[in-house]
Amino acid sequence: MSNKKYNYNEEIQRRRTFAIISHPDAGKTTLTEKFLLYGGAIREAGSVKSRRSNKHAVSDWMEIEKQRGISVTSSVLQFNYQDHCINILDTPGHQDFSEDTYRTLIAADSAVMVIDSNKGVEAQTKKLFQVCKMRGIPIFTFINKMDRLGRDPFDLIDDLEEALGIRSYPVDWPIGNGKDFRGVYNRLEKRIELFNEGNHGQSMANIVTGEVTDDAFRLLLGSDLHDKLLEDIELLDMAGDDFDLHKIINGELTPVYFGSALTNFGVEPFLQSFLDITPPPMARKSNLGYIDPEDRNFTGFIFKIQANMDPNHRDRIAFLRICSGQYEKGMTVNHVNMGKKVKLAQPQQFMAQDRVIVESAFSGDIIGLHDPGIFNIGDTLTFDNIPLEYEGIPQFAPEFFMKISTINAMKRKQFLKGLTQLAQEGTIQVYRRPFAGTEELIVGVVGVLQFEVLEYRLTHEYGVEINTQRMPYRFIRWVNDDFDMNKLNLTMDSLVGHDKDDRPVIFFQNEWSIRMIQERNKGLVLRETSLVTL
Ligand code: GDP
Repeated sequence: MSNKKYNYNEEIQRRRTFAIISHPDAGKTTLTEKFLLYGGAIREAGSVKSRRSNKHAVSDWMEIEKQRGISVTSSVLQFNYQDHCINILDTPGHQDFSEDTYRTLIAADSAVMVIDSNKGVEAQTKKLFQVCKMRGIPIFTFINKMDRLGRDPFDLIDDLEEALGIRSYPVDWPIGNGKDFRGVYNRLEKRIELFNEGNHGQSMANIVTGEVTDDAFRLLLGSDLHDKLLEDIELLDMAGDDFDLHKIINGELTPVYFGSALTNFGVEPFLQSFLDITPPPMARKSNLGYIDPEDRNFTGFIFKIQANMDPNHRDRIAFLRICSGQYEKGMTVNHVNMGKKVKLAQPQQFMAQDRVIVESAFSGDIIGLHDPGIFNIGDTLTFDNIPLEYEGIPQFAPEFFMKISTINAMKRKQFLKGLTQLAQEGTIQVYRRPFAGTEELIVGVVGVLQFEVLEYRLTHEYGVEINTQRMPYRFIRWVNDDFDMNKLNLTMDSLVGHDKDDRPVIFFQNEWSIRMIQERNKGLVLRETSLVTL
């Protein structure tokens, strides 16, 4: 047991918990790695990448991820930088896993959006941004790859507004572009930060503070770069938005930074400014009102379950976001949804390459709990037997459906176990309906790649071969509890079933039949999402 004494409020104030989102290849991994490098959590660049190709450290079903070059899962890393304790939540770049992204964002207090300066806002950026927007958290923009000749910075700013509909405030403005990218001008601090080629930009060569018109700036930059900077800043000050912290906190204005994760240019200025502006953990909504992170009583919720992170151990980890109080090693907490006490033995945190056993953790931290199958996404854990529940995590309405059965009837038990576990992890949703005297199972997903993950994992982890058959349905709606299903008047092309909690659902092929059934059935309320808890 650690004897270390903590100042509880200070510990919370120094915490920053955020997610990183980007279109694949924009540079999310490289940027994360540089953060870790500055925080001293890794010694060499390339360590995080090599972890991906290291067979022992990668879960086997992530083969899919490697084959396709996309990140299917999201992981969590913690490190210290200066006075801050930082939790980074990585998110899958592919839109088919946007449900997973949403769950991850629920655990985050802010998001960093990485954009390739050559490409601007890309398809996946849009989807992921929409998910962030639903959460209403602060979103910071890092425009990456400035070491290559990219698009005009003003174009990129316009793109944010046109493609994403968000106003922006460039905090760091680039001086030069491509090979001539020399540094940034910080509009809040009113200073120029020039990069030092010598040590790969890990320290800033020159920091000069003053009005942008100062002669010192001209001397430093030369007249061409200085003239361009003067012109740019004047335009931004005149035509751009003002810095407005309130709007940033509400996700209505995004602070923008320019840099190059590869050469380190602009990364540390970004990190420092981001940590200054982005808030520490804030109060969270529960059924008993807002819970203050400084409340001493321990509470938290499960937002993600990930199986087989280590193929040698066949383990399952439930990720818990602490919302108040302090976790101490070996503590027992109340599992509200099960109405049982559970001992949090050996929770883990994820540092750069390693998992470590957590001695102590505070509001804002994410810890990984060994899960023998008792946790569901959305479960709340509390210090005592109080009926507190954090806001449920909505299940997205799937848009693709298939019938599923096992080829080998002898393996039905394994098959059902696999399906149940994968549904608990939120990889897929499972529905049932009576069919020819037995039961038919239907799997629903938000993105078709989830079907592939399902097939792959059932085969590789559960040893089950499956038959699948795509169904024509594109919509599902949950039915209000007080509606009498016996009186339901359906259209020919729709279907009734039940979700895993036995709640009635209707499958539709098109919006026309949704409207039709709505008109035919008085008192019927059709819902697009169902809450996992509450
Ligand atoms: P992710 O898919 O968003 O995680 O992107 P990665 O971090 O894996 O980067 C994708 C590719 O872009 C890799 O080849 C990186 O080396 C490269 N890259 C990342 N950041 C930069 C940058 O600032 N400049 C340049 N030129 N390349 C970069």
